[in-house]
Amino acid sequence: MPAVLDMMRELIARPSVSCTDPSFDQSNLAVVYLLADWLDALGFAIDIDPICERKANLIATLGNPACRNGLVLSGHTDTVPYDAGQWTFDPFKLTERDQRLYGLGSADMKSFFALVIEAARHYAARDLQQSLVILATADEESSMSGVKRLLKEGMKLGRYAVIGEPTDLKPIRMHKGVMLEAIRVRGHAGHSSDPALGANAIEGMHAVLTELIAWRAELQAKYRHSAFKVAVPTLNLGSIHGGDNPNRICAECETQIDIRPLPGMDLAELQHSLLQRLLPVLADDPRLSLQVVPLFEGLPAFETPAEAEIVKSCERLTGHAAGAVAFGTEAPFLSRLGLDTIVMGPGSIEQAHQPDEYLALDQIQPTIALLRKLIERYCVEPVPCRQL
Ligand SMILES: [Zn+2]
Repeated sequence: MPAVLDMMRELIARPSVSCTDPSFDQSNLAVVYLLADWLDALGFAIDIDPICERKANLIATLGNPACRNGLVLSGHTDTVPYDAGQWTFDPFKLTERDQRLYGLGSADMKSFFALVIEAARHYAARDLQQSLVILATADEESSMSGVKRLLKEGMKLGRYAVIGEPTDLKPIRMHKGVMLEAIRVRGHAGHSSDPALGANAIEGMHAVLTELIAWRAELQAKYRHSAFKVAVPTLNLGSIHGGDNPNRICAECETQIDIRPLPGMDLAELQHSLLQRLLPVLADDPRLSLQVVPLFEGLPAFETPAEAEIVKSCERLTGHAAGAVAFGTEAPFLSRLGLDTIVMGPGSIEQAHQPDEYLALDQIQPTIALLRKLIERYCVEPVPCRQL
């Protein structure tokens, strides 16, 4: 087994960019196979769960796989794309400088796997009363196809999960969701000199935007969660495109919006009420039509209750109260798989998704120590499976 920095180096050296643009999207299999080799050598049972030809999840289990009631340590194998010209260092070569480890995925979040393996290598299957699962997913940064597949399969992975996204080792028990929608208004083109010759899509969109802003105010009056820095759900008008020439009546206009719902706001219900709000707006002019198209399936908001055992344990172990973050994770999907989930990992989100991403060296030992305490609590100390 390689040393922890060598594992980080090997993981970062294997590109695994995931991107909604197919020209940037890469396979994650090299990372999955590497992790599988290391974990196999440590006695883990290896399950490689293919999603398509180029992508797979890895589920590695130590202890009795028939009784997955223990801890899941989870991360994603992919990274975001990178701006080659803006990096000081080679993004695929782990570079140690000024007490920092630079490389693509150093913080978000390949290093986490090296630290998990370093923590886990001290245990053999016979030490564990409950199973330890190391989960490595595909496509977290793009479609979340990996974790969605696990949810579809309904696979029981354990009872508690820690997702090692970079949170400076502070426990996170909630985040908002994400909904991205395109709203299209179609009218009819005509000569600008006579409005009766057409139906103006920009004017239709004007009414739509007014309604969206009114709807947002109502949502913000109804929902509030003081744990979040922005305590209300947001709705951002992100882009608008329509028309071509000043002397033509605009036939088509599209706006794209980003909605960030709070925990407790259901995505399907929100989508339904968005349509219900907008459809009547253009009803007076039958020549104008409206279409609302989701730009992706949406990410649900996530919340593990403040009184959950995993929350209390992580607060005790770290000395930090569990909080909220502004970024999305796979946590809502793991929650739906029945796992009490916390997001907590080394490094800072401020270094993620940008050139010269790094992990501070002083995060390494505290992370390994914290992971060992979690393994002790949820896998070594509990009552054995058969006695439950
Ligand atoms: Zn991440």
